[in-house]
Amino acid sequence: MIQSGKISVQTENIFPIIKKFLYSEQEIFLRELVSNAMDATTKIKTLSSRGEAKGELGQLMIEIIPNKEAKTLTIRDRGLGMDAEEVNKYLNQVAFSSAQEFLDKYKDEANIIGHFGLGFYSAFMVADKVEVITKSYKENAEAVKWTCTGDTEFTIESAEKSDRGTDIILHLSEDCLDYAESYKVEGLLEKFCKFLPFPIKLGTKKEKQKDGDVETEIEVDNIINNTNPIWKKNPTELTDDDYKKFYQELYPFSSEPLFWIHLNIDYPFNLTGVLYFPKSKINLRFKK
Ligand code: ADP
Repeated sequence: MIQSGKISVQTENIFPIIKKFLYSEQEIFLRELVSNAMDATTKIKTLSSRGEAKGELGQLMIEIIPNKEAKTLTIRDRGLGMDAEEVNKYLNQVAFSSAQEFLDKYKDEANIIGHFGLGFYSAFMVADKVEVITKSYKENAEAVKWTCTGDTEFTIESAEKSDRGTDIILHLSEDCLDYAESYKVEGLLEKFCKFLPFPIKLGTKKEKQKDGDVETEIEVDNIINNTNPIWKKNPTELTDDDYKKFYQELYPFSSEPLFWIHLNIDYPFNLTGVLYFPKSKINLRFKK
């Protein structure tokens, strides 16, 4: 073991409080953890393009792995990872201070829930124990494992991990075992992570492949998100069908939009988007 200790915090029973007050917003834990994974992935890409991170980038994707038997949900990234010192700083100090800040704010504001990103510690809304196994991009970095069982005690020890990046393993509480079900996780990812910039993989799926006249079935990664939505593309590359298809993706059971405007504004702020005008369902009847 490299280190064990106590997270410094005034409120000893911070986790039960987080669980209780955030119960109705419980689902946001996945959005928070996936967005941390996305941040870590963006950072390694930037470091690598600047020549500050050596070695292969590998396939930059986020993997979500529900496991019913083990009662766990793992969020895996190939981002920049952390070394022992960073785990201590970012998870024990930074992340915890944001949880503490949440509680402090909550005292004054009745309706703070939903307005405050709890970040990493939102994991404890659904898990009794959280393990973080991480390996930094830095040369000769050693992998470390951080474990915390939902109170203020934590341990950091050496771990085995061949790839750079971070695994967040949530040992789900008995009342949150739903999150070990693939369909449940898929619904949440669709809701919160549909257009994030790196692929999010949730298991595999079968896909038909045609080779001349022969049709075979192959197993491919099941990617949940659309990493290149049309509003990021140049309107000159898009056809009417592309716009209609995207509208269908957003609103699967609606009829075609009446028309749309592709926004691409640089000044005074940067904004890209597609503004759709749906067909009105109201029938206008005129009487003479
Ligand atoms: P925030 O993301 O708002 O800074 P969090 O509580 O979510 O706050 O996370 C605290 C810090 O822990 C992050 O700023 C980051 O440095 C580190 N961290 C969290 N998740 C990861 C991850 N998957 N990979 C690398 N670093 C991470």
